[in-house]
Amino acid sequence: MATIDRHARLTLLTGPSGVGKGTLVTRLLERHPQLWLSVSATTRAPREGEQDGIHYFFHSRKSFDQLVSEGGLLEWAEFAGNCYGTPKQPVLGRLESGTPVLLEIELEGARQVRRSFPQALQIFLAPPSFEELEQRIRGRGTEAEAAIAKRLDRARTELKAQQEFDAVVVNDDLQTALNNLERLMGLYET
Ligand code: ADP
Ligand code: 5GP
Repeated sequence: MATIDRHARLTLLTGPSGVGKGTLVTRLLERHPQLWLSVSATTRAPREGEQDGIHYFFHSRKSFDQLVSEGGLLEWAEFAGNCYGTPKQPVLGRLESGTPVLLEIELEGARQVRRSFPQALQIFLAPPSFEELEQRIRGRGTEAEAAIAKRLDRARTELKAQQEFDAVVVNDDLQTALNNLERLMGLYET
């Protein structure tokens, strides 16, 4: 794992679908309320319990395309048949006011942000094995088989790119992964 000796205010968390990003981000936000998580725009349909403006801003393809053409997104990418993007202004505003910002985004988006924010801390969250990843994504029960297959296919590409990141955290034991993220991000209990 690379040694991180700086306190980055912008952190990117990337990793294959089902690895546990959402679970860990929820825990991080509970423990560190000063951290701000960007709410992404997406064309994906809401999962049960997901609320517009809280989990995502849900868009039609047409209104997503409009956001893109207006320059409203910091980055965007297509993932497993849907579009996802980071609204630009809220992120820039938080960074200007000194708030630590967390983006939970896939590989192509992370590459785009890396170009505009080379100083961002980029963390890749990896599963202990591909088999465990598959079990987690199936166990979550939120996607149909065709969508799971697309996500697992994409996972192979993402896993190959993990060396591009500043650090790789393996999400085997959840608490250990959480501690490693906190250490990398320079977070201490408030
Ligand atoms: P992602 O946001 O990366 O797609 P989730 O946070 O939704 O992944 O996690 C996928 C599934 O894996 C969930 O059912 C979650 O409870 C489970 N999970 C997350 N972390 C762990 C872990 N360390 N060990 C076992 N299961 C986990
Ligand atoms: P899900 O459909 O499981 O919520 O998310 C699918 C993938 O899209 C995940 O890898 C997640 O990190 C990624 N994602 C979520 N929001 C964004 C975003 O704003 N931009 C990009 N590029 N990826 C995102």
